[in-house]
Amino acid sequence: MSGEPVPGADEGYDEWADALAEDAYYLKCHNGHGLLPPRRVCPECGSRTLSEASLPIVGEIVTFSEVHVAPPDFEDDTPYVTAVADFGAVRLTGIVRGMETAEIEIGTSVEVDVRQNQTTGKRLVVFRPRE
Ligand SMILES: [Zn+2]
Repeated sequence: MSGEPVPGADEGYDEWADALAEDAYYLKCHNGHGLLPPRRVCPECGSRTLSEASLPIVGEIVTFSEVHVAPPDFEDDTPYVTAVADFGAVRLTGIVRGMETAEIEIGTSVEVDVRQNQTTGKRLVVFRPRE
């Protein structure tokens, strides 16, 4: 699918992804809505009072699609599966590793991790099978 957001495209997001392996967190507004960097304003209520909350390690896949024609930054990674996983307060976009496409279903439990993009060596949010 074209028009899909590319994981790791923003600077604030990159910093957040760096922290993901060690200290996974998401941002929570004072009304309890979850959001991710680089956002600085809650899209639900407009709150700018954000605090960090710890991110559950295990999420559930809510949508996924196999990518055969990738943007240049992902050329060497194809084919791959991009997915959105629900971690309760927030949903993350990442790349599925360690599973065949046929094994991936809506509702599959995954753990979030950080790996390198095979094309650029940049960090990448990865979903892998729950152990
Ligand atoms: Zn809010």
